[in-house]
Amino acid sequence: MAATIIDGKAFAARVRAQVAGQVARLTSEHGITPGLAVVLVGEDPASQVYVRSKGKMTIEVGMASFEHRLPETATEGELLDLVDCLNKDDQVHGILVQLPLPDHLNSNLVINAIDPAKDVDGFHISNVGRLGTGQNAMVPCTPLGCLLMLRDTHGSLSGLDAVVIGRSNIVGKPMFNLLLGESCTVTVAHSRTKDLPKVVRRADIVVAAVGRPNMVKGNWIKPGATVIDVGINRIDAPERGEGKTRLVGDVEFDSAAQVAGAITPVPGGVGPMTIACLLANTLTACCRANGLPEPEGLTV
Ligand code: NDP
Repeated sequence: MAATIIDGKAFAARVRAQVAGQVARLTSEHGITPGLAVVLVGEDPASQVYVRSKGKMTIEVGMASFEHRLPETATEGELLDLVDCLNKDDQVHGILVQLPLPDHLNSNLVINAIDPAKDVDGFHISNVGRLGTGQNAMVPCTPLGCLLMLRDTHGSLSGLDAVVIGRSNIVGKPMFNLLLGESCTVTVAHSRTKDLPKVVRRADIVVAAVGRPNMVKGNWIKPGATVIDVGINRIDAPERGEGKTRLVGDVEFDSAAQVAGAITPVPGGVGPMTIACLLANTLTACCRANGLPEPEGLTV
């Protein structure tokens, strides 16, 4: 196997340790404790797991964690009232409304009701615009995690050819903007792209955010390229026993690792970086709110 495996779990632990160090300094030197509020509406099992682990890690880095649960039947008005309270609460520096929301609630309306300075998911329209115009944005956590891993692998990304596969608002488009901001030459591919293997083959950096198991093959990868696999796909794993499943990415790991220079595994690659970057964003939001210098190396 030729490629260096980028250990997202270890990298995320380093980011969390860096955040914890700066939180301790903020608390001891300025008497400020960064606070993250997470809002969960309904009983979606996957969302409950995410919210629990976000709360646990928030406390582990020394921040205050505020968890708000509303029933599945909550009205838009009730949710907007809660967001308004959190916007006004000085102890809350970051607000995350766990998605997806139940169908009767308008996600865009709710996200855009969050104070953009506290929008640690980076989904508020004003943060989207700031990122697109190179201004001080809150950056969506998953693409930020990908960027931190790429910077760590390459140092400067300037002039490199990058291909992002996927154009969603939460991964593909912000990733495009981040890579452009690093002076990469960026192509964004999607379901209508013609000859995707040929497009991918010219890239020094490939970010796959599609949601299709093992779609990107090793023979699509330029030798030595860095491959960041955002995809999380659960597939059947009969080899592990009847009814068993396992997680795979959008990239066929074994064949791609023969050719790539560096590659993230699934699980253990991008996934752990997402919560680490949520904590980093909360720290950034707290520093900005208090007119203090932003944490080094954790923002764009
Ligand atoms: P979306 O479904 O919103 O977007 C998928 C994108 O892939 C679309 O732009 C779509 O194109 C494109 N696409 C679909 N089929 C093809 C194809 N055959 N060839 C090329 N492009 C294709 O997904 P997300 O961006 O939300 O998520 C992508 C993956 O990343 C998922 O597996 C998700 O679970 C994972 N994810 C992981 C996170 C993490 O923390 N690691 C966080 C967020 C997501 P088109 O626009 O034309 O339809």
